[in-house]
Amino acid sequence: MDYRELETLPAEDLLRWALTTYQHAFAIVTSFQLEGMVLIDMASRLVDHFRVITVDTGRLPEETYTMIETVRARYGVHVEVAAPDPVELADLIHTHGPNCFYRSPELRLLCCQVRKVRPLERKLGTVQAWAVGLRRLQSETRATISKVELVAGRFKLSPLADWTDQQVEEYVQRHDVPRHPLYAKGYTSIGCEPCTRPTLPGEPKRAGRWWWESGVPKECGIHVLPNGTVTRLQSFGLVCAAEPGSAG
Ligand code: SF4
Repeated sequence: MDYRELETLPAEDLLRWALTTYQHAFAIVTSFQLEGMVLIDMASRLVDHFRVITVDTGRLPEETYTMIETVRARYGVHVEVAAPDPVELADLIHTHGPNCFYRSPELRLLCCQVRKVRPLERKLGTVQAWAVGLRRLQSETRATISKVELVAGRFKLSPLADWTDQQVEEYVQRHDVPRHPLYAKGYTSIGCEPCTRPTLPGEPKRAGRWWWESGVPKECGIHVLPNGTVTRLQSFGLVCAAEPGSAG
């Protein structure tokens, strides 16, 4: 398949392509929000075995651990957990304190680097392609994401990039997909416990993330750079132009 065609595929077709092409070298990366759960459910209908990776920052809400148990029981998946390097984490806490994220955006981003970004980057060394539940409608910083990108030599897929809230909700209801318990408590985006609060009616979905900050993109650095750009990510078209056939 011409990989440029992948960008036009519906979510299920793109996920099927990744699962069959990369098999054990492909994983769904999720924090068990609705979109990630849709991908897990979809994958379970396409193949018998697939990988799921999550990052345990050490500061997750109890309900997220419940979701790991739920996914294990419902889908028979042994969720792979990426964790911070203990030396880096000890150094962070020793130097800046356990709750440094409240003091400045720089320290918050440092915490996200140590607890989230670097552990995931290390874990992604075990895959050639990975899928996430990003959608363009989730926030301004995500409005231009592609379904297929190349990040550090690996394909990052966002099969639900063009899905609406309604499409997600319809899929969840049709297939009785498990919901993270915090949605029922008013959360519309779910991350670490000390850095996430419920949102108020009318607020943007990610307003509850790092709610004390202003003028800083509500991103941890995994998907979007701290300055709000996605320049770390090459679009597939650019990659194809520079390296024809590089992805086999
Ligand atoms: S969300 Fe908060 S606790 Fe979690 S890694 Fe980022 S700054 Fe640290």
